[in-house]
Amino acid sequence: SKAEGRNKVRTFDPATLLARQLERQIVSELGHAIGSDQLVLFYQPIVELATGRLQGSEALVRWNHPERGLIMPDKFIPVAEATGLIPELGRWVLRNSVAQLAAWRRDPATAHHDFSMRINVSAPDLQSLEFVDDVREALSTAGLPPESLVLELTESAIIQNNELDRYTLMSLHRLGVGLEIDDFGTGYSSIGYLRKLPVDHVKVDREFVRDLGKDDTQLQFLAAIQNVIRSCGLDGIWEGIETVEQAEALRSIGCTSGQGYYFGRPVSGTEFTAQLKRQETW
Ligand code: C2E
Ligand code: CA
Ligand code: CA
Ligand code: CA
Repeated sequence: SKAEGRNKVRTFDPATLLARQLERQIVSELGHAIGSDQLVLFYQPIVELATGRLQGSEALVRWNHPERGLIMPDKFIPVAEATGLIPELGRWVLRNSVAQLAAWRRDPATAHHDFSMRINVSAPDLQSLEFVDDVREALSTAGLPPESLVLELTESAIIQNNELDRYTLMSLHRLGVGLEIDDFGTGYSSIGYLRKLPVDHVKVDREFVRDLGKDDTQLQFLAAIQNVIRSCGLDGIWEGIETVEQAEALRSIGCTSGQGYYFGRPVSGTEFTAQLKRQETW
């Protein structure tokens, strides 16, 4: 049959075979990697567009593999989500990122910067019954107030629409940590939830900024998105800003916060520390 034909082609495609092999290897090695210091966090600045002041740092995980070198999250986060490894990985990211923020706030050479830590939270994290306790405990161990942490959740993670997720979201909101919708505009859900969910921030997906300059109406389109976010009483963050022109265009339509290679690429904790010591603004 036609379907069998397609399967045959897939089986003998060396690229697909390699990808499957890599995935199997990742599954078997990732659990070990989490417990043995092979994961590292990189940090990327989130900047106030009008002043260049640092508002936040997003922690982005990488896997420093002993043989394969630095592996990017796109290669192993989906695998971790599918194989039940996310709660453990999520706890590692949570603890290490708040410990890093606490260290920056303690060190007199970096303490004058006043910014929050942003971490990415996967759907299985939200479904874990202990997640709220983990967050509360990580913050208290690090000695940080809840508002110093912002959790970035994708639309699909947030809108699973089950009772447990909604209960978890409300508990996190009551705890006082910031909640943010990540990759806004890429899901298929209605924007009505912006008014209903207990979120504070909305990060607009970088595809909208990427398309700036393609035609005259794109900037008006982004202004409309920014207005929707603002009129819901939310704080909008624009990601994927790679050029000064993009930063200026966003500023001209009233956007206040941005993130992207133009301001700074994700860098190691050591390098981010050096930047904090070196620069006042971005
Ligand atoms: P994300 O949350 O949307 O993170 C932003 C991604 O865009 C990062 O890729 C970042 O390096 C990249 N980026 C930043 N500025 C620019 C820019 O100006 N231009 C372009 N083209 N890209 C830019 P990265 O680090 O490879 O992370 C990919 C995704 O992996 C993240 O997307 C997030 O969904 C996931 N991820 C990363 N770290 C974690 C984590 O600790 N936990 C979970 N659950 N997911 C994570
Ligand atoms: Ca994110
Ligand atoms: Ca994003
Ligand atoms: Ca993304």
